[in-house]
Amino acid sequence: MIGTVYLVGAGAGDAKLLTLRGAELLQQADCVIYDRLGTEQLLEQIPPHCEKIYVGKADSHHTLSQQEINCLLEQKAKEHPIVVRLKGGDPFVFGRGGEEGCYLKEKNIPFQVVSGVTSAIAGLAAAGIPITHRELARGFRVYTAHDKDGGFGGMDFASMANTNDTLVFLMGLGRVEQIAAQLMKYGKSSDTPCAVISNASLPTQKSVFAPLQQLAAKVKQEQLHSPALIVVGEVVQLSEQLNWFEQRPLFGKKILFPQTGTDSRLEKMLQEQGAEVQRVQVSSLQPLEQAWENICKGAGAEWVAFTSHNGVQFFFDAVAKNRQDSRCLAGTMVAAIGESTAQALQQYGIRADFVATGSTSEQFAEELSQEMMAGERLVVVCPNQPLSPCWAMENNSVIAAPVYENVPNPDAQIPDQSPNGAVFTCASSVHRFAALLKNQTLKKYLSGIPVAAIGAKTAEALQQYEIFPAICSESNYTQLVKTLCQLFKDKR
Ligand code: SAH
Repeated sequence: MIGTVYLVGAGAGDAKLLTLRGAELLQQADCVIYDRLGTEQLLEQIPPHCEKIYVGKADSHHTLSQQEINCLLEQKAKEHPIVVRLKGGDPFVFGRGGEEGCYLKEKNIPFQVVSGVTSAIAGLAAAGIPITHRELARGFRVYTAHDKDGGFGGMDFASMANTNDTLVFLMGLGRVEQIAAQLMKYGKSSDTPCAVISNASLPTQKSVFAPLQQLAAKVKQEQLHSPALIVVGEVVQLSEQLNWFEQRPLFGKKILFPQTGTDSRLEKMLQEQGAEVQRVQVSSLQPLEQAWENICKGAGAEWVAFTSHNGVQFFFDAVAKNRQDSRCLAGTMVAAIGESTAQALQQYGIRADFVATGSTSEQFAEELSQEMMAGERLVVVCPNQPLSPCWAMENNSVIAAPVYENVPNPDAQIPDQSPNGAVFTCASSVHRFAALLKNQTLKKYLSGIPVAAIGAKTAEALQQYEIFPAICSESNYTQLVKTLCQLFKDKR
């Protein structure tokens, strides 16, 4: 048996730049051999049973030589049907993908190439620089500035100085000064607009813009880190208009998000606005052993209310565990606290009969009591906590059905770097996070930075620590992100 080696481009930086074909192969792979990618997120997509081998460089220290990597590919192809060789950007752009392909061909090992989004193009785009532009650059040239001997052997600076093509140099951060000097020596105008972009397309992206003559000094001053791209050419000017990435409201901000559940929506929404999210899993939601028993206590009730989309999930997990399905709700009226909970219900084939327009439990209980007829009974699906007094109804009996519990995670790590802003989505996330801070008060930890709370209860919890957050007008993630963005805007 001999497997196939797939030379896959991971895309530059942002894990979402991986192609669909790349993602499919990562899911199916038996072994992934990877370089330094700039992001750990890609590796999280690989199923746990898959063998993962790091062969990248840790700084200038090579873990394996190219020959050793070639042999490793060969050996793994003899052990597994699907071997993925994952490389940053595109495998054929300074990725030595060609060398690996030739070696595999020579050894009669089947291989395929899955192109990736190269940093030479996408990295520029992330700084608002189109690599070509009508009337500014008819073409582009991509060079490696890395040379084993530390020289510029074979690089025709005279021709580079004489063209309007956009010049892109990879692996050149340590040589900005020499590159600029060479270009100017051969006649490139010292005013030519230039940029250096480090960690392109990542939340840690940093870019520096300067005319050719001042580029090296500016790069030094700003202390950019590798990996970085050097761009020389008139197209760089367009960044003023096109730098969408760095102009997002939360770009460059570390946002603390103490999380209780597993819902990834808020994190994604914050990232979408440019934030580097410091998610701290302060507790986890776990199913209650007696969930099904609790649900059964309400058997025959006319109504069931779902107060969160976690509640929906744990309810149906308990249902499935007891070899039942959505039909257990046949004939029961179903109420949801809001749209996202209603959507969660739809995933189980249940269309809510009633969706509250307000977003707090108080409003939900109030609106629902108007909807129900006197004497009808209500089951409230909830966490393992005393039901809020707002559920006491005058003309209806209410039965709590706890299906999950919120269990603290004492091992949660406080981020190494202090945040620039914070969001809190429930009171328990406030208390749990405060408990993790060993030598510091929450007030001190969050002092001077924008803090947004999803609703009044969360804000009350923060106030207990003398923190006075902005409170969302409606308790949902969209408003929470908007509120936080507004705080940063006001701060400017
Ligand atoms: N195959 C890769 C390039 C590999 S060479 C590609 O197609 O992008 C490694 C060099 O790529 C780095 O030294 C740097 O110049 C560039 N690079 C890769 N990812 C980058 C990123 N996210 N930001 C800036 N430069 C990056």
